[in-house]
Amino acid sequence: MRRTFSFFVAALAFCGGLSASAAIRVTFPAERQRLPAVGETYVIGSVDPRGTEWLYVNGVTTDVYRTGAFLAMVPVKPGTNTLTVFRGRERLVRTFVVAEQDAPGSVRKPAPVLSGDDPRLGPPSAWQTVGTLFSNRVRTEIDGGDTAHYLPAGFVLRGAEVKGTTWLAVWLEGRLGFLPKTVVRHRPELDVPPRRQIAPDPARGFPDKPPFGRSPKTVRICIDPGHGGSDAGARSPHGWCEKDVNLMQARAIRDALEKAGFQVLMTRDDDSFPALYDRPKMAYDERVDAFISVHHNATPANRNPRQVRHTTSYASTSNGLALAQCIQRHMAPVLAPVPNAGAQMKSYAVCRNPAVPSCLLEVDFINLPEGEAESWDAVRQRKVATAVVLGILDWMSPPPGQSGEGVPGED
Ligand SMILES: [Zn+2]
Repeated sequence: MRRTFSFFVAALAFCGGLSASAAIRVTFPAERQRLPAVGETYVIGSVDPRGTEWLYVNGVTTDVYRTGAFLAMVPVKPGTNTLTVFRGRERLVRTFVVAEQDAPGSVRKPAPVLSGDDPRLGPPSAWQTVGTLFSNRVRTEIDGGDTAHYLPAGFVLRGAEVKGTTWLAVWLEGRLGFLPKTVVRHRPELDVPPRRQIAPDPARGFPDKPPFGRSPKTVRICIDPGHGGSDAGARSPHGWCEKDVNLMQARAIRDALEKAGFQVLMTRDDDSFPALYDRPKMAYDERVDAFISVHHNATPANRNPRQVRHTTSYASTSNGLALAQCIQRHMAPVLAPVPNAGAQMKSYAVCRNPAVPSCLLEVDFINLPEGEAESWDAVRQRKVATAVVLGILDWMSPPPGQSGEGVPGED
C-alpha cells in the first residue's frame, strides 16, 4: 500500500514537471526571497532520506544528514540568482535576489560628537551609544552606584537628558540611570516617542543577591519560550520553527523545575505571542526570583552554521549574568560537542530589567542539520532541562561563609 502511494506521489511529481518534485524541499532561501548584500549564502532543505543517490547543490556534491536535512554554502552575486538542487531524476530550481553592494564612497560619515554645552542639544532627545559593551555602562547613581545595564554599541536611548558636563541621565526599564557622555553621541533624528517601558515601582529595589539558601518551594521562576504566533523565529532545514522548539524545551524545563519543587510561571504555553515588553513585565508583576528566556539560534545568510555553531547564555544586567553563568556551566557539558561560548553580556529587551535577574539561553543552532535533529530530540531536551535546574540550584547556593537568608548581621 505504502509502495503504491509513494509511486503515485513520484508519478504525480513527474507529471507536474521535475521542478515540482515533492522529494526535494529548500527552506532557505525561499522562492523570490531578498537577501542582503552578501557574497555567499547558506542553502538548507531536506530530501527523502531513503534515497542513496548524491545530492548536488549548484553542481557541488552535498552530504545528506540521516534525517534527510542538508546544508550547503553557495557563492552568490548581486541581483537575481538561480539555485538548482539535483538528486537522481529529481530537480528543484529556486530563484532569489541578492541586494547590490553599496558603491564605494557612499558610506555615511558618523555624526560628530557634540559637547554638553552645544546649543544644538536642545531639550531631552535621542542619543546613541558609541563605546564598547562594557564601556557603555549605565550606573544607578552619578559617579557610583551599581551597574544597571551594559549597552551594546549603536543602542538608541530616548528621553535622555544631559546632566552637567559629563553625564547623561537615561530612563531605562523603569529606572533612572547615568551614562558618561564620552560613550554616546547625540542623534536628534532618531527621537521618536519612547517605546513602552516597564512601570517603575519605587517600593521595590532590585535584588543585590540571589535567593541564597531558600527552599525551592519558596522560589518562583518565570520561563519564557521565545517568539510564538506569527513570529516564528529561526527556521530549520525541514522548515520547522524556532518558536515550537523553544516551547518544547521550555516545557521540559518547567517540568524539571516543578519536579525539584520550584514554582514556575510560563509567559506562554501555546502558540500565542506575548508582546516583547509584556514578557519581562509579567515576571516583574509576579515578583518572580528569576526569568529565563529560551531560544535557539541561526546564522545570518552568509555565515556557515557548521563553522559558528555554539551554545551560550546572555544577560543584560550584572545580577542576570550571575544566573547565566551558573546555568551555562551546567548546560554546556550536556550539549557537547557543541562549542561552549560561555555566558555573555548583551542588551536584550527581555533581560534588561535589573529588578528580576534574567537571562536568555541560545541552546543550539537550528539552521544546521545536526542542530535541528538534536534540538528536537526529547531526550536532549530533558538533559538541558536538568542542567538548567542544577544551574539555578548552584546560583541559589550561598557562597562560603554565608548560610542563606536571615543570617545575623546581614542587611
Ligand atoms: Zn529566538
